Amino acid sequence: MDFSIQLQAWYSSYGRSLPWRHTKDPYSIWVSEIILQQTQVKQGLDYYNRFINSFPNIEALAVAEQDEVLKLWQGLGYYSRARNLHAAAQSIFFKQKNVFPKNYKDILLLKGIGPYTAAAIASFAFNLPYAVLDGNVYRVLSRLFTIEIPIDSTAGKKHFQELANQLLDKRNPALHNQAIMDFGAICCTPTSPKCTECPFQTTCKAYLTNTVIDFPKKGKRTKQRHRYFTFFFFDIHHSTYINKRGNNDIWTGLYEFPLIETNQKTSLKEVKKIFLTQNLPYTNITIKKATTYKHVLSHQIIHATFFKVSTNEHKLTHWQQKPLQRIPISELQNYPFPQLIIKFLNDNNFISSK
Ligand code: SF4
Repeated sequence: MDFSIQLQAWYSSYGRSLPWRHTKDPYSIWVSEIILQQTQVKQGLDYYNRFINSFPNIEALAVAEQDEVLKLWQGLGYYSRARNLHAAAQSIFFKQKNVFPKNYKDILLLKGIGPYTAAAIASFAFNLPYAVLDGNVYRVLSRLFTIEIPIDSTAGKKHFQELANQLLDKRNPALHNQAIMDFGAICCTPTSPKCTECPFQTTCKAYLTNTVIDFPKKGKRTKQRHRYFTFFFFDIHHSTYINKRGNNDIWTGLYEFPLIETNQKTSLKEVKKIFLTQNLPYTNITIKKATTYKHVLSHQIIHATFFKVSTNEHKLTHWQQKPLQRIPISELQNYPFPQLIIKFLNDNNFISSK
């Protein structure tokens, strides 16, 4: 308990004032936690405000089209978060009489909600005694107690959760959880922790043994996979082709241009050959290499090359079995695209920034 008292004292002086901290509405807290899962508060704040303005409650989100939801999420990445949030809102609204679950176990059943988010909602909205364990909390605890178990191992997750539960102030779980997360984000930061200003300076084992940057311990990194994407941006009398990406890959539900994926980069010569061998119905076609980008995701590195294809008339209905939509180039900004494609559209002045 001493630990939590010190933590809460620190929080009362240095804690951040964020909109979702001033509400007990589980929906708003849920939205904020999902946005903040892979996003810094500074970037997430804007998205949170726009999301809550567009979808102020569960009903508004449940009846929205998926394209609208993904469009608002555009640029945040990890789009499964938005799809799951949408699906869970539909489940609450249509199947659970629009009543948000009020206990940890039922919250955990919602799509896209794991132990961390369930603990955050349960404690912040309902003041239930569940300790949160996010990247900040792992870092703080691993340093305070110099815990050698990798935080990304099963044993590590169990050990840290038990320790977090023991340290929790069960009378004030919301305050305790907010305080420890802010403490990790503001004071015990990943690279330059403010140890000289820290209230735990005299007890923190990592500080006392000068091993702060050795914690937290992590297991082996997953090797990133390299992928080579060639996109075709058609320009046919100021219209272009797009298609919606399917399941079981990155960017599900977002739009893209006709794409081929290869084992290495594609040259202009090879692209022209593809068009010739595929016997595509075109006239007066011009193909030019436009831009290449390297886009780094958590487990993949995408090497993307965009080719501009200009032609007089072109009637394609499908691209590699995917149905194509032909739309005016001026309407591109109405569709949700991955950030990589947004960059191409911005760099080539097809849309103005976000
Ligand atoms: S002394 Fe440094 S490493 Fe230890 S808890 Fe405080 S900020 Fe973190």
